[in-house]
Amino acid sequence: MANEKTKILIIGSGPAGYTAAIYASRANLSPLLYEGIEPGGQLTTTTEIENFPGYPDGTTGTSLMEDLKKQAVRLGADVRAGIITSVDFSSRPFKATLDGGSTIEADAVIVATGAAARYLGLESEMKYRGMGVSACATCDGFFYRKKDVAVVGGGDTACEEATYLATLCRKVYMIVRKDYLRASKAMQDRVFATPNIEVLFEHNTKEVLGDDDGVTGALLVKADGSERKIDIDGFFLAIGHTPNTKMLGGQLELDAEGYIKVEPGTSKTSVKGVFAAGDVKDPRYRQAITAAGSGCIAALDAERFLNGVE
Ligand SMILES: Cc1cc2nc3c(=O)[nH]c(=O)nc-3n(C[C@H](O)[C@H](O)[C@H](O)COP(=O)(O)OP(=O)(O)OC[C@H]3O[C@@H](n4cnc5c(N)ncnc54)[C@H](O)[C@@H]3O)c2cc1C
Repeated sequence: MANEKTKILIIGSGPAGYTAAIYASRANLSPLLYEGIEPGGQLTTTTEIENFPGYPDGTTGTSLMEDLKKQAVRLGADVRAGIITSVDFSSRPFKATLDGGSTIEADAVIVATGAAARYLGLESEMKYRGMGVSACATCDGFFYRKKDVAVVGGGDTACEEATYLATLCRKVYMIVRKDYLRASKAMQDRVFATPNIEVLFEHNTKEVLGDDDGVTGALLVKADGSERKIDIDGFFLAIGHTPNTKMLGGQLELDAEGYIKVEPGTSKTSVKGVFAAGDVKDPRYRQAITAAGSGCIAALDAERFLNGVE
């Protein structure tokens, strides 16, 4: 299959990938960007975005991503449809194989493949995704001010999201599978000290309930088999994310949760000349603006690498 050569290959078309493309284009590096299975990334699965700077009246995920793409293309990025199925970082130039079988050689690579939130796998959960079901309290909590919501999970993230939501919402249920919280003692203490959080230990969600306007409740099953219905407007998943690193085939160092490890304060991965940006290397913040910021960092790091500065 046809071989192509580029100075810089960007894998992923979320805020990290497009921002990297904008910076790399302006540095005259003519980046080649592959969009992957989800052109525009995670934001295209949501509606309103109120926290991305520069949009005083808010915007939608789709139009924000269309704007970023247009900006990258106008500045010279070559944006293409296609999925990278494998990479070879063992020698330079690096190699990447596309779903159609063709290969690309690149002097530098920016991996910006994002991370997918984990869901319970219920049909009803998918039905109300974006209509009350969310995997991001920071992103969507604001829409549930003074309402009742539930958070699924018992780890640090779930406790953090529950305490955050408790500052906005009237009541927060935590739905916890086990009879204890996995979170750190400090996080547990914060949860138990928050009067409007009720922890429902040994509960599983059987079904997310709703109507044409979105979520109205959840049907829970207790460990003894009995059922309980709670009335809620928002159902927040906090059971972890899966970083999209499969196609890397173990060639970059990952942390215990599977996120790409980078040298602190940079985008440098364990392979010189390969950089990571956005949610795929960020177990903590996972926001569009932080992803965009790290895309900028990755392009600047790649530029320095290509110029032989480091
Ligand atoms: C429902 C929802 C609502 C959200 N709301 C907000 C919000 O209001 N504000 C906010 O700041 N953040 C929000 N977020 C979080 C935000 O979407 C992410 O932090 C951000 O999109 C991460 O950007 P990214 O570029 O790292 O990755 P993503 O946006 O995840 O993009 C990853 C890209 O990589 C591509 N890709 C993956 N594998 C391959 C491959 N093998 N080959 C080629 N391409 C590949 C995908 O196709 C995709 O284009 C929300 C997230 C969700 C799910």
